[in-house]
Amino acid sequence: VAEAIARRKTIRPSPPRLGAPGIRRGARQYDVTICGAGFAGAVLAERLAQSSGRRVLVVDRRDHIGGNAYDCRDAAGILIHRYGPHIFHTNSDEVVAYLSRFTTWRPYEHRVLAQVGEQRLPMPINRTTLNALYGRSMASDDEVSAFLAAQAEPVAEVRTARDVVVNAVGRTLYETFFEGYTRKQWGLDPSQLDKTVTARVPTRTNDDDRYFTDSFQAMPTEGYTRMFENMLDHPRIDLALGVDFHSLPVQDRAPLTIYTGPIDTYFGHRFGPLPYRSLEFRHETLNQRRFQEVGVVNYPAPDVPWTRVTEYKHLTGQVHPQTSISYEIPSDTGDPYYPIPRPENQALFKRYQALADAEPGVIFAGRLGSYRYYNMDQVVGQALAIHRRMVAQLPAAEVL
Ligand code: FAD
Ligand code: UDP
Repeated sequence: VAEAIARRKTIRPSPPRLGAPGIRRGARQYDVTICGAGFAGAVLAERLAQSSGRRVLVVDRRDHIGGNAYDCRDAAGILIHRYGPHIFHTNSDEVVAYLSRFTTWRPYEHRVLAQVGEQRLPMPINRTTLNALYGRSMASDDEVSAFLAAQAEPVAEVRTARDVVVNAVGRTLYETFFEGYTRKQWGLDPSQLDKTVTARVPTRTNDDDRYFTDSFQAMPTEGYTRMFENMLDHPRIDLALGVDFHSLPVQDRAPLTIYTGPIDTYFGHRFGPLPYRSLEFRHETLNQRRFQEVGVVNYPAPDVPWTRVTEYKHLTGQVHPQTSISYEIPSDTGDPYYPIPRPENQALFKRYQALADAEPGVIFAGRLGSYRYYNMDQVVGQALAIHRRMVAQLPAAEVL
């Protein structure tokens, strides 16, 4: 964090530079049309405009930039994340160096508690979790390893999200922390999901209670939206907000398109819709300074409709006499937030990917364009890699 802060450039406060909805300068004025102003679209717009001298039109059907990482002040003036808690964490120096051009950072290590009966226990499961749950006083990693080994139920071939957990910690801990949460979150049993889903959450034998262990964990000091404003504030970038890409007449599109919306939508769901999981966010402001001990409390119990509650002031460090929280209630309908990792969905995606590979002048990117359960840093890394490949393919004379 210190290194990134030392590298920071002075960010001048910039007012939102939001293009008029429906902006159409005539496609020929643009070299690239980008569908989506989230991380994938914004990074590629910035790179193509700033580093490659291209004129870029970014189109988003929402009335704001930032995609799902969008944050804003609510009626009480508290900075909230409209689409749920976004915590930045990465092991990539390249991604940190790149984003640090557009923001300074506030160090933040995310902590999560799981509500189990009357107890709130550290998640991921660690020594403290086990001691509290079982009334033990294990003091060393070795003791915890032995305890977990006794609980674990080895699975011959670890394939599913259930296998990963049962194999590591056994059925009781799986049922307590994972089964109900995962069924709510995905509308599927963990045995129907790829192992990668629950493998995101480790088990620890020490008392480290951080949710992530990445080398860089911090939040953009002035929020994500301000960071996106700084990325997109370029004379060669225009924004058209509140505009659906598919409503642009074909002749209005630039010679190159970067598409970060759902890949199946681009192809008119030709092979049937790719499944996505959605969420309903219930935002509330309370007349109290603090609501919960940590940024997020998870609710694995099946009889509670939400999966987690976030209190944003923990994430942002904002000081305010009130506090704002959000409940996440999973849903099948609504905006596509999560690609659902399971073999049949990946097989369907591959069919769309084959169409994408054959589609001239279009590059698919981002969480929805790639149908991958990517974190923010992975999307930034992917976008930087796409830009590098584009530069490598350009004739030398065209690289500015
Ligand atoms: P998006 O942010 O989804 O942007 C795509 C944009 O394209 C959207 O703005 C959409 O409106 C626009 N679009 C789509 N179709 C069209 C169209 N036809 N015309 C015009 N515009 C269109 N990652 C982390 O690293 N840490 C976290 O803590 C974290 N928490 C998360 C919590 C939740 C609830 C969710 C849903 C995701 C979370 N993520 C987190 C993941 C993170 O949101 C994504 O990795 C990242 O925002 C993806 O960026 P993107 O540009 O690929 O997609
Ligand atoms: N998970 C769970 N219980 C928890 C936390 C996570 O069962 O308390 C499972 C659940 O299936 C979830 C997945 O692990 O979707 C990944 O968790 P993560 O916190 O990474 O989810 P995200 O922040 O991406 O929604």
